[in-house]
Amino acid sequence: MSRFWSDFVHKLEPYVPGEQPKVARLVKLNTNENPYGPSPKAVQAMAAINPDSLRLYPDPDSSLLKQSVATFYGIDVNQIFAGNGSDEVLAHIFYGFFKQQKPLLFPDITYSFYKVYCGLYDIEYKPVALAEDFSINVNDYVQPNGGIIFPNPNAPTGLLMPLAEVESLLQRNTESLVVVDEAYIDFGGESAGALINQYPNLLVTQTLSKSRSLAGLRIGLAIGQADLIEGLERVKNCFNSYPIDQLANAAGAAAFDDVEYFDATRKKVMESRESLRDALAQRGFSILPSATNFLFARHAQISGDDLAARLRKHGVIVRHFAKPERISEYLRITIGTEEQNQALLAAYDAEC
Ligand SMILES: *Cc1c(COP(=O)(O)O)cnc(C)c1O
Repeated sequence: MSRFWSDFVHKLEPYVPGEQPKVARLVKLNTNENPYGPSPKAVQAMAAINPDSLRLYPDPDSSLLKQSVATFYGIDVNQIFAGNGSDEVLAHIFYGFFKQQKPLLFPDITYSFYKVYCGLYDIEYKPVALAEDFSINVNDYVQPNGGIIFPNPNAPTGLLMPLAEVESLLQRNTESLVVVDEAYIDFGGESAGALINQYPNLLVTQTLSKSRSLAGLRIGLAIGQADLIEGLERVKNCFNSYPIDQLANAAGAAAFDDVEYFDATRKKVMESRESLRDALAQRGFSILPSATNFLFARHAQISGDDLAARLRKHGVIVRHFAKPERISEYLRITIGTEEQNQALLAAYDAEC
């Protein structure tokens, strides 16, 4: 703390990211990173960059990346926005679209960054309680609002909302922006990106951090009709004209082009998820259905807190959220390689 901080900074409540340990050799299952590396083609694309060209600013329009994304989804480049991680894309969305007279709606249990952006940009919000089974009931969002945002699948629960329900919400909420945060959509869901031409109030955000294994490069996207994207470009160009650096532009494009690698690695993650689910269920866990690269699980006898600490003794780190209370007994366990998942089970068996 410093007396030079503004009152505003004193009041901010920042997001707390999962630990990035400085020691190697930990089995890191706490921040939903992809256990497989990025596409070899993405790595080659970075290696092919002439270091001398790093003297120059990158392309402010990230054209290479946007062209590949446009081809992948069969949409126009002017329907795509790119930012420095989807967290930055979300920040621009909150600032550019959600500062309204009526409150922003999002689930009471969800990605905790939403509340942080509301604090940063002084946006009024109203949490909407998840159902008993942790699902999002779209009927609960049919009420006056200045915008709606939810992850699909939701985080940290992992639950997927079927695309038909996303569409039903869009049909009944036509007067404010609906943002679907699809950070995990590639692990078992169907993207709402297919609906953008029908719904002028739909923005879909995605990230290359999870299914494309490029968390370290920081690349996020928003997809929507051109006038929404134009609004985001305005905000971006008042903040940082070059959010996508040269390496990210090249590697991101190559990662989108390498559909084969993308499909092979996400399939492996999804298969491991189901075998890990079975192994945990046998050990007394109850586990929510997951369409993501993590499992949200609680143990019948051991508290979430205690269990996270016991696993850690064996070098296995998972994510535990002490709040809200309704999820405080749960652990969010990222799907690792087969070897990492076995290490998790071995740690459990040694301790419990
Ligand atoms: C990981 C995650 C993000 C942020 O992804 P980045 O692109 O790495 O900033 C956004 N939303 C949800 C729900 C996430 O889990």
